[in-house]
Amino acid sequence: MNKKPFVDCHCHLEEKDYPDLGEVLQRMEKAGVACVASGRNREQNERVLRLKRSGVKAAVGISPHDAQGVDLEDELAWLEVNVNEACAIGEIGLDYHHFHSQEERGKQGEVFEAMLGFAEKTGKPAIIHSRKAEGEVLEALDSFNCRAVLHCFLVPQLIERVLEAGHGISLPTLKNKSRVKLIKRLPLNKILCETDSPFLWTGRNEPANVVSVYDEVARVKGVELSEVRDLVGSNAEELFGGF
Ligand SMILES: [Zn+2]
Repeated sequence: MNKKPFVDCHCHLEEKDYPDLGEVLQRMEKAGVACVASGRNREQNERVLRLKRSGVKAAVGISPHDAQGVDLEDELAWLEVNVNEACAIGEIGLDYHHFHSQEERGKQGEVFEAMLGFAEKTGKPAIIHSRKAEGEVLEALDSFNCRAVLHCFLVPQLIERVLEAGHGISLPTLKNKSRVKLIKRLPLNKILCETDSPFLWTGRNEPANVVSVYDEVARVKGVELSEVRDLVGSNAEELFGGF
């Protein structure tokens, strides 16, 4: 087996956060990391497609934070034209932590289902945000035939349901007890790792830091880091294609 990269399967590389993006990508490459940069709205979807290069793949979609006021027909038309350039549909999903009104959640649901339908139609995997709406997200996924990666999913109580449905879980750079529980209970072929850069770190996160998640998986599972890298790298390549 060729040496795989440490894949950061979910990060955001927005201009406002990374005026020094060239250096960030250099550190990433030096650490042996490759990443999937996620868009979330039209502007960021266009940006990730421009950022695409060896070691950087792009995901396009409308996130729950960007769902309000979106013209779905228009966005779907754009996605249709550009989707071949992307390896996944993301970031999409539901967020009930930040959004409380029925109206907001209704619009999120409408956009999320449209994105899942689009993922199903194109055969691309979906990268999914499910904060405080994990049950609702799993329920919505049951109605679609698409491969899903649940990003920063830290709900060990729902793990059986996730595995039964065949979804992957992306473990974040956040250190906590739920992450340890998930690592213990997830088979290595269902694990992916992410930074969600620039978030989930003390200070600004960046893709190179994803190696810390692989270290933790190796420690908890009691296997070699290189083995975790190769297996998780294979999971990522199966979903997103080669890096
Ligand atoms: Zn994200």
